[in-house]
Amino acid sequence: MSKRDYYEVLGVSRDASEADIKKSYRRLAMKYHPDRNPDDPSAAERFREASEAYEVLTDAEKREAYDRFGHAGVDGSAGMGAGFAGGSFSDIFSDVFGDIFGGGRGRSSVARGSDLRYTLDLDLEQAVRGDSVEIRIPVLTACETCDGSGARAGTKPSTCPDCAGAGQIRVAQGFFSLQQTCPRCRGSGQIITDPCGKCGGRGRVEKPKALSVRIPPGVDTGDRIRLAGEGEAGLNGGPPGDLYVQIQVREHAIFTRDGRNLYCEVPIDFVEAALGGELEVPTLDGRVKVKIPAETQTGKLFRLRGKGVTPVRGGGIGDLLCRVVVETPVNLTDQQKQILREFQATLSDGGEKHSPKGTSWFKGVKDFFDGLTG
Ligand SMILES: [Zn+2]
Ligand SMILES: [Zn+2]
Repeated sequence: MSKRDYYEVLGVSRDASEADIKKSYRRLAMKYHPDRNPDDPSAAERFREASEAYEVLTDAEKREAYDRFGHAGVDGSAGMGAGFAGGSFSDIFSDVFGDIFGGGRGRSSVARGSDLRYTLDLDLEQAVRGDSVEIRIPVLTACETCDGSGARAGTKPSTCPDCAGAGQIRVAQGFFSLQQTCPRCRGSGQIITDPCGKCGGRGRVEKPKALSVRIPPGVDTGDRIRLAGEGEAGLNGGPPGDLYVQIQVREHAIFTRDGRNLYCEVPIDFVEAALGGELEVPTLDGRVKVKIPAETQTGKLFRLRGKGVTPVRGGGIGDLLCRVVVETPVNLTDQQKQILREFQATLSDGGEKHSPKGTSWFKGVKDFFDGLTG
């Protein structure tokens, strides 16, 4: 059998660069590799031929000998590419073109279950003091009927015909051959021909699961509690995922929280504000009495030390800050209005004395306009 010219075999010119030779060989290898042409001996021969040509023409010494003496120059030394051709498809590609196809070969059927997230609404009191809460979550658990295999009792999954059990298939993309997870068996290498009636072949069923969650004192919105191993069941013996309980604290009628401190607003009437007195202020532990001094202005903050929150991550307890809001009286009787008018008359000649803030504000406004016009 006379051999074809190596350049002709690869379809390149005699002055082709090594890159051109590689490129051409890659194209031919994709086309004629025995893995892709299992029943075509002529393809195998074309592949062997191309491999041999490639081996010679990418070796500078052999290529020079071939250029000078033809096949006689390299026969008996080139190894004929026979061993080369025996390599598997992906071996050739990782040998010749580097590991450009990434890993991921082999079975990937054992998989850890997914993590789950559950949002748990808590009252402020529960979050501050801690609690134990029972939650019910739907979880995928291994099907008891088929022991998680997905196959009907007494049957077994069979080898996936698309990937021959490898879990991976090769897909041509241009010059490249890419490995990807077999879509038919989703990488398990096995398919269920006779599925379990309970789980429909999925091997897992959704079941509500009751769990007791211990809420540590001091948690806040955004905190997560991890329950190891309480997520979805793994696949084919893989470990289960985790469950993350995400804390969401409901709005409170009285208190708002900012870190370790609590805030509340306490309305007082203007007589109390003017004369001072004793206020009842709510705390999470019940009511406490707070003395407010005479001439208390609206917006004044009273700090109740140690009536806040001990943060879950440690640190000292915070404070409760009560903001006084002076409430303007409404629904006044004629008599009450009369009293207020009489009271107002007593203020008229001593404005600065009784309302220093208002007086200085009005003075500031006056100065501003005077500055504009003058
Ligand atoms: Zn089942
Ligand atoms: Zn498959």
